[in-house]
Formats: sequence, C-alpha cells, structure tokens
Amino acid sequence: MPAQTGIANRREPFHCQASRTTGGKQTGETMLGLMQDWPLLIHRVIDYAARQHGAREVVSRSVEGPIHRTTYSEIHIRAKKVSQRLTQDGIVLGDRIATLAWNTWRHLESWYGITGVGAIYHTVNPRLFPDQIVWIVNNAQDRILLTDLSFVPLLEKIADQLPTIERYVVLTDAAHMPQTNLKNAMAYEDWIGACDGDFDWAQFDEKTAAGLCYTSGTTGNPKGVLYSHRSNVLHSMSLAHADALAIRASSVVLPVVPLFHANSWSLAFSCPMMGAKMVMPGPRLDGASLYELMEQEGVTMAAGVPTVWAMLLAFLQKEGKRLSTTKQMLVGGSACPRAMVEVFERDYGLTVVHAWGMTEMSPIGSLGSVKASLSGLEGEALIDLKVKQGYAPFGVDMKITDDSGKELPWDGKTFGRLKVSGFAVTKGYFRHDENILDDAGFFDTGDVATIDPNGYMQITDRSKDVIKSGGEWISSIELENLAVGHPDVAEAAVIGVAHQKWSERPLLVVVPKEGPTIDKAGVLAFMEGKIARWWMPDDVQVIAEIPHTATGKINKLKLREDFREYRLPEG
Ligand code: AMP
Repeated sequence: MPAQTGIANRREPFHCQASRTTGGKQTGETMLGLMQDWPLLIHRVIDYAARQHGAREVVSRSVEGPIHRTTYSEIHIRAKKVSQRLTQDGIVLGDRIATLAWNTWRHLESWYGITGVGAIYHTVNPRLFPDQIVWIVNNAQDRILLTDLSFVPLLEKIADQLPTIERYVVLTDAAHMPQTNLKNAMAYEDWIGACDGDFDWAQFDEKTAAGLCYTSGTTGNPKGVLYSHRSNVLHSMSLAHADALAIRASSVVLPVVPLFHANSWSLAFSCPMMGAKMVMPGPRLDGASLYELMEQEGVTMAAGVPTVWAMLLAFLQKEGKRLSTTKQMLVGGSACPRAMVEVFERDYGLTVVHAWGMTEMSPIGSLGSVKASLSGLEGEALIDLKVKQGYAPFGVDMKITDDSGKELPWDGKTFGRLKVSGFAVTKGYFRHDENILDDAGFFDTGDVATIDPNGYMQITDRSKDVIKSGGEWISSIELENLAVGHPDVAEAAVIGVAHQKWSERPLLVVVPKEGPTIDKAGVLAFMEGKIARWWMPDDVQVIAEIPHTATGKINKLKLREDFREYRLPEG
C-alpha cells in the first residue's frame, strides 16, 4: 500500500478507503465529508423566517383594495394549512397546482404550502392570451387552480377547455367570493379555514421539482422550466448577498416583478431567508400607487422591469415628488435605458443595479454592482458601467462563443452567443426530450453579448433581433436605448428591414411623448455622433403604441409583421 498522508491515516479506520495502485497508476477513492444531510427544501426557508424573523411584516395591497398586513409567523402557519388542505384534496408529490395571481401574501403563502407537500407551484402569467393559458395549463396538467378575483371572468370563459382542473380556489374570503360556476369553486379563506396548521412538511429529495414557469415563447409553443427545491434555495441564497440584491434583515423590499415572472427574481425566497420586510403591490402597478406604497412602508429596495420604472419616473417628475427611503432600484427583464440610469442616480440619488436573466436561469444571471477595482468610477464612466448587464454571481458560469461554439475573448468588443451553466440553470424543458446543452453543459441563452476584461457582460441583442448589415451586426437594443434619451420619445423599438445591398438595415419606430407626431430629423440628429455612422437608422416611423409580450418586452415579432409591407426610403 502506498504511503498515506497523516490525516488520511488517522481517518482510515473509519471513513477512508485507502488509495490503491491499479495498472501501475496510483488512484484515490472518495472520502465523504462528515457533515449532516440537510436537504435544501423550500419549506426550511419559511420555517427559518418564522423562527428568527417571525414578527417581520409582509404588507400587501390586496386585490379587494385595502392594505393587508401579516407576518412571517402567520404566513408559516397558513402555508401549513394550505399543505394540510391540499393533502385532504388528494394532492400528492409531483402534482402541479396552478396560480393565476398578483403579488400578495396569499399567493406567497400558497407557494410554501404547495411545495410543502412536494407538489409544484405552476405560475401562469395572466397577461398571456387565453389560448396560451389553456395550452399551458393543459400541458402542465394542473389539478387545482388558485386564482385572484381579477381573473375569475377570464377563467369562466376557458374553464371548459381545462379538463385537468378539479377545483378552482379564489384567493379571497367568503365576503368577496363571487357567484361562479367554476368547478368546485371555493374562497381560499374557507378552503384553508377548517385546517389547524398542525402539519409536518413532507420529506423528499432536494432535487424534487418545486416550481414550473413557462417561457414567453414568442415563437412556437411556450416551454416549461422546472425549478427544484435545491435550485431555488441555492439561487435565492446566492443572490441575497451585499453585492447582488443586498437584502438584509433591515431591508424593506418591493417586488414589483410578479411572482409569475420566474420566481419574482428570487425575492419570494431571499426576503424571508434574510428576514426582510416584503411589500407586495397586488394588482396596482401604476406610478402613483407604487409611490404611495414605497413611502408609506419605507421601501429601501424595489425590483421591476424598465416599463414599470418609466411609469414611476413619469409620476415623480410630474408631481415633483422624491423617494425618501428608497436607496436601490433593481432593473431587469429588458435593457435598462441609459437615460433611466442617469435620472435615477443623478436626480434621485438612487443606486441602480441592472440585472439580466431569464426564466431558464431561475432567473438571475448577472448583476451590475461595482467591483472593488472599479470603485473609483464616477460620472459618465460609472453610467457606462451601470448600463451593462453586469457580472455573473457565484453559481453562474458564462461564456460567449461564435456559431461554431469557439469561445470568444472577453475584450468588451467581440459579440458572441451568450451561454451559461450553473446550479440554477435549466438542463431541459418540461416534457421535452431534446438535449439543449452544448458538449460542455452550457445552455445557449439566445442572447448576443460582449464581456469586458472586468467580467461585465453587455447584451447586444436577442440573436434573432440583431440587425445584420453587410455582414456586421448592429445592436437594436443600443439604438433603442439611445433613441429614448431624446426628450420627445416615450418608447422606441428598432427592427431590421430587408435591404438589397446590405441585406438588412435598421428602422427606428417611436412612440412620441406628446401628440401624434415628432420631429424625425431631430431624433436622428440627436443620435448622430453617439454611434458609428453605419449604425444610424435608415428611417424613423411614428406609431401610437409599441406591441409588448406578456412579460412586458417589446414584441419584435409582431412589430416585424406590422411593418412587413414597409419599404425603406431609396438612397
Ligand atoms: P424571460 O425568460 O421572459 O425573462 O426573458 C429572458 C430574456 O429577456 C433574456 O434572454 C434577454 O433577452 C431579456 N433580458 C432580460 N433582462 C435583460 C436586461 N437587463 N437587458 C437586456 N435584455 C434582458
């Protein structure tokens, strides 16, 4: 037997299988650590929150109207009641329970209750077309559907196409329960009312599925992303830290990002894990309603998509208001325009953290906090950094490649396909067999990006939206961000239009802030000099409204259809 290290020798009698010599080569054998098996299960998060931060509040604007206040202790008990009731209704490990609901305490506690029996919360985005909702619920084969009052009329129209749903639970109390013919319909408060919360969470492997969320699917049918207990717990834990979401026990967090957008960017778990107060906006996401909540509840950090923040900003500017307690704005879901970073940081003294991610990544893949080596940056240079989508946190490996899969340099200039791997990145879609990873186990995000020498990634475009002009790529996102900096432009979108010589050229489509028209030449003049000459849009078209997808992104597919007959000016 070959010589052993001292430590290995000491452990050998109990725990180590000695290394051996096979075929002349010395091999080792695994020595397992002596730590406990403590599966990373979601209900441990709410157990912890109830024990250590039991009195910490969760405040919601209820769908019925009034502000509702509860605590992690109460949510813990009520989640157990949900588990108890699901068990009585015959729900078992692996069953899917749909939720069609806004961000409120009831939605939150139902997640913990559903996962507490080993069932799977399936968040359905109410902004999808009814046909898509039907398709998704049938694909998931959901057994119970929890809905807010707002969506009862919608469900009544499509319920006959949802054969797998055995019961509809309306997230309200008896006093607000509408008359409905939905199958076995019950008010949530009655549904859990007879349970006492004396329930032991089910025990199972941490890799068990916990949540299901379908991607927006601008082409083809939506695809289901299936999160596990382990991936959700690790993701939330890795994102709570100071250089990511910076959530602490003293934080007051407003997740404007809905629970139905990929785990509300982990906040449904990270906040209870840290003991932060949660402020849930319910159905009212307009600037005035958000401002009121932020001020009344002392929100320190708010998370949402740029469209929502544009509404808040418009309100603040119009009313001459300031946010007195808010320190940090988390902006993601689509590119945060430079003008928004500037106004939030310069005029309102807020720290903008730009985040990128996708449903397939649980969802956060990068965040733009400032690394130590860049801490001296200020002014324009700091804004330049903040406009980038940021660097990958621990748990996300990132690379950019060319079409053949060859890795490209991190020089901040070379564009490539952005690929990722990590403990909370999908390896396949629900009920799909095909392999979606490359040979090294990386998932192609469908985004095109650069990564700079400091590790900061910048999205250039979706690979299908990038404009291919004369063999070179033009970033539609960069042009859009620039155009919205013009004072008269409310929203902008750029699409590629066929061109005989260059194959494609950019067309800028804008929605004016006031009135039906805008000085097109003025918009182009504003952009000139800020980008390469050959990136300049060939034309500007004015429309009343830009189409959006159900997750609030510009619907380029629809826009391209709308402009199918359009021809660029000669010249
Ligand atoms: P979803 O799965 O619906 O969340 O969509 C994910 C896609 O949204 C990503 O692949 C990106 O194309 C886009 N996206 C998300 N965050 C950002 C961001 N900060 N900047 C630019 N694009 C983003």
